[in-house]
Amino acid sequence: MRSRYSAYVVKQYTYILDTYAAEQKAGLDTQTLAQSAAGTQWLRLDIQATSSTSNKAKVRFKAFYRDGEQFYLMHEDSSFILENNQWRYTQGEIQDDSGLLKPGRNDECVCGSQKKFKKCCGR
Ligand SMILES: [Zn+2]
Repeated sequence: MRSRYSAYVVKQYTYILDTYAAEQKAGLDTQTLAQSAAGTQWLRLDIQATSSTSNKAKVRFKAFYRDGEQFYLMHEDSSFILENNQWRYTQGEIQDDSGLLKPGRNDECVCGSQKKFKKCCGR
């Protein structure tokens, strides 16, 4: 999960594609992944909870990102299966508070710097 996030940050779409489970991977290619993430600047990843059995895992996370002057939250429960000894992504359940963020100028910055928004990403 964390490695998938890191791959998005550095735009390693081949890696991301390889971490999809076979069934989900079938309809995807690196170009589609790149297009869907174009303009996205990832700011922070918070892992909220994880659970796993021998061959299934769930990860609840919050990822913060910006696109131009707008800030967003992706809050998702991701599901993984163990496939050829690798954890691979099967699906994500988007949580209701996902979407556009409206940080106040004096709020703590969404990127996790602990500075005020106006003195950090909101400048
Ligand atoms: Zn910031």
